[in-house]
Amino acid sequence: MSAEKRHRLLCIVCPESCEMEVVEKDGTFVFPTGICHMGQDYARQEIVDPRRILTTTVKLIGGEVQMLPVRTTQPIPREKLLKAMDQIAGITAEAPVQARDVVIPDVAGSGVALIASRSVDKRGKKTK
Ligand code: SF4
Repeated sequence: MSAEKRHRLLCIVCPESCEMEVVEKDGTFVFPTGICHMGQDYARQEIVDPRRILTTTVKLIGGEVQMLPVRTTQPIPREKLLKAMDQIAGITAEAPVQARDVVIPDVAGSGVALIASRSVDKRGKKTK
């Protein structure tokens, strides 16, 4: 028999922003009254395997801007975020870039791609 664990969470699925304390025991979760199914799914994911979409920028060579906004195509495990940021800090992209171009196919070994969030033309060429 395992010890009971209590998790305090703020659900961010909808603007209601419900606070909850979830009790975990023997692999089951007990939710407070009033927490909807979407909130329960969010809490289970957050307790068992928390993930985040990573949005940041990459150095860009030859573009109309010097930094390219990028994001992961899906949430990645939270424990891989620092490794991902280290990997991203060590790379440069080259203009031109189209929105959704893959910048890193498998960021931090997560199996998730890092893509450009916007298009950037070469310096001196007008973006349509
Ligand atoms: S628990 Fe349900 S109602 Fe509350 S914030 Fe989450 S999704 Fe919205």
